[in-house]
Amino acid sequence: MPKKVLVIEDNHQNMYLTTFMLERHGHKVLQAWDGQQGIEMAAQALPDLILLDIQLPEMDGYAVAKALKADPRLAMVPIVAVTSYAMAGDRERILASGCNGYIEKPINPETFLAQIEQFLAPAGPGEV
Ligand code: MN
Repeated sequence: MPKKVLVIEDNHQNMYLTTFMLERHGHKVLQAWDGQQGIEMAAQALPDLILLDIQLPEMDGYAVAKALKADPRLAMVPIVAVTSYAMAGDRERILASGCNGYIEKPINPETFLAQIEQFLAPAGPGEV
């Protein structure tokens, strides 16, 4: 089932690859190139999923995730962080900021969709 995915990513190559894979699987992609734009687009479009780069200019992904989760209309929208940080503490920081999960860069085209789709699975009422 096609979903609306907001990708917040400042790197053109990653944006291109992510968008290509999602669209090839029938999803609709909205592109935001920084955190502020991402927050505005999320509030307007109410996406089914947000893919969030952690390393963003000005407002980093942690701050963006907190802002998104603070908006009651967006609180239920799953956020998947995309990060090149592999250290254990970052995983906790990512989850503490409100992200529902994370994917490590470099994105693996073989497993990317499967990783994403566990967050796009239809959730029952009240299920996060
Ligand atoms: Mn980045």
